[in-house]
Amino acid sequence: MPELPEVETFKRFVGCHALGKKICKVQVLHAKILEGVPAERFIAAIEGCCLSGTLRRGKHLFVALEPVNARQKGVAKPWLYLHFGMTGYLSYTEQGKTMVNAYGDSSRPDAHVRVRFCFEDDSYLDFHEQRLFGKAGLVDNPQDYLENRHLGPDALTVERQPFIESLQSRKGQIKPVLLNQSMVAGIGNVYADEMLFQCRIHPERRVAELTEADLQCLYAQMVDVLQNTVDVGSDRAQLPPYYLIHVREKKGRCPRDKTLLTVKTIGGRTTYFCPVCQH
Ligand SMILES: [Zn+2]
Repeated sequence: MPELPEVETFKRFVGCHALGKKICKVQVLHAKILEGVPAERFIAAIEGCCLSGTLRRGKHLFVALEPVNARQKGVAKPWLYLHFGMTGYLSYTEQGKTMVNAYGDSSRPDAHVRVRFCFEDDSYLDFHEQRLFGKAGLVDNPQDYLENRHLGPDALTVERQPFIESLQSRKGQIKPVLLNQSMVAGIGNVYADEMLFQCRIHPERRVAELTEADLQCLYAQMVDVLQNTVDVGSDRAQLPPYYLIHVREKKGRCPRDKTLLTVKTIGGRTTYFCPVCQH
């Protein structure tokens, strides 16, 4: 499931391949992917625009649309909004060659394309989302959109003290609190487990019981784990060998002490942890 680092990777992918290009045609291949906008309006708002900038908070990606047509100049354009749901990713095709970011499935490039953005130079950007939990839409103002959803600060840019204070103001078990997007935006199930493993904190520990050292560790590991993943283009295989992420599967063993990992549903999410070194 795409979390903050994956969406940051998608943002950079758009920046690298599609920014500044004029969209001449938009194809909606599955209308269920659209959020609150009919396909005709979605298409009409985007065709003829250049992709002129990107903005990400948490797992939400926005792409600025700039009219190129003189007739449309001066008209405020909405932003293209993309949410990658469970299985979403992007690919870019130029001269018959398809590039997929590390997270995507390059073996079946056309299987789950939901929206295709075609550029003037015959290249195109595809939005894939097999499970259809993701969304594409139009947003007038990203800041308003995020505020209406009570989204907290981005996990990669939030500063240490506000993060710790926000954490301390929450009640309950640490794992669900980390997943609460109004606390910080962008931590999902996999990276929450990783942060807790690296800090040796049991996912069911109450926030109120965490020590100052635990809180400091969680901040440091949040930044480290997310930034390390962004740095390898979300290719999880390249993450350090002592990461839980490599063994986060049935019968997986702790990278430290080889104990069989415990798998338990916590806060409604499947959680992996080491019953020996996390307490
Ligand atoms: Zn262990």
